[in-house]
Amino acid sequence: MRQATIYIDSKALQYNLNRVKQLAPHSQIVSMVKANAYGHGVQDCLAALNATDAFGVACLEEALEIRRLGYTQPITLIEGVFTEDEMEDVIQQKLECVVHRHEQVEWLIQNKEAYNALGLKVWVKLNSGMNRLGFKSNEIIAVIHQLKSLNFNCVLTMHFANADVDHPLNEQQIQQFLDVKNACKPILASCCNSAAIYKYPNLHFDYVRPGIMLYGATPFADKDVNELDLKPVMSFEAEIIALNQIHAGESVGYGSTFTATNSMQIAIVSIGYGDGYPRAYVKPNYVAIDKQLTPVIGRVSMDMIAIDTTKLQVKVGTKVELWGKTRLVDDVANANGTIGYELLCRLSNRPQRQRI
Ligand SMILES: *Cc1c(COP(=O)(O)O)cnc(C)c1O
Repeated sequence: MRQATIYIDSKALQYNLNRVKQLAPHSQIVSMVKANAYGHGVQDCLAALNATDAFGVACLEEALEIRRLGYTQPITLIEGVFTEDEMEDVIQQKLECVVHRHEQVEWLIQNKEAYNALGLKVWVKLNSGMNRLGFKSNEIIAVIHQLKSLNFNCVLTMHFANADVDHPLNEQQIQQFLDVKNACKPILASCCNSAAIYKYPNLHFDYVRPGIMLYGATPFADKDVNELDLKPVMSFEAEIIALNQIHAGESVGYGSTFTATNSMQIAIVSIGYGDGYPRAYVKPNYVAIDKQLTPVIGRVSMDMIAIDTTKLQVKVGTKVELWGKTRLVDDVANANGTIGYELLCRLSNRPQRQRI
């Protein structure tokens, strides 16, 4: 059988959740499990994350899946409901809504009795400068006052556009958030994603919302997971299915983009863009065999890649780590002009999945 396997390390996931607890000991943790737990498989990840205080997802369908699997923690719909009819499931399944536009506030108010009777909080989203979702600071105070007057328990929330870097917008976003928080006090608050959990220990407030750090990938361009003391959760592996000796002047793969300058041994590995391995190429890319890095050569095909094994002891069947504990997903992403988040989320359903 063709070998292309995604291993999910539950212990690593628990380790990373504990890292969040160490960093934000006074906050509740809303573990972000949207997009199938960042491509890791929500079912496996929920089991390992059961000690979290709550979950965060992007839509009703993702929340319903968590309830179907039997988890009873609070779940926040981070974009709220998309249509009014979703409010029925919100109530039935005890889900917490973000409100980022007036219509959602109306729908919520129409379900006020049931929503509040369940003790659900409403997350009111401030658009502090990312200009994706939320009320501007000049309108949000009225929204919060209205909701509070109707006995809703509000959480003021926002999202950083640049938590991963130093950027002048960060201070502006923080200032707006603090101003609104002050104008609406007492009010619960939440503004930290993974990068902000590390960067702004004084802004953890009531809830932190870690995503990528739980999965052991970095939110920062200039800090790797070892520096952050996180453990990669996913190991993506395939195996060698053929070995070729080639000579100087011979080329490899589609487009013949790689030409050997010396005699060399190349190995063909059972992975390709059909599995979600990236084909884009910006910088030299590597895989790991027995914790040793070796270059990917030529173009990535749908089902195969070629690697240089001249200096390695390998045979057909040798395991190859595409990303995992040695070859970090963030480094593969960097070599392909993207971020770890994207590579993790866009794996196809062809690889086998296994929880370890
Ligand atoms: C996805 C998301 C997060 C988590 O972000 P990470 O960078 O993965 O930690 C937090 N908050 C909101 C609103 C999100 O959409």
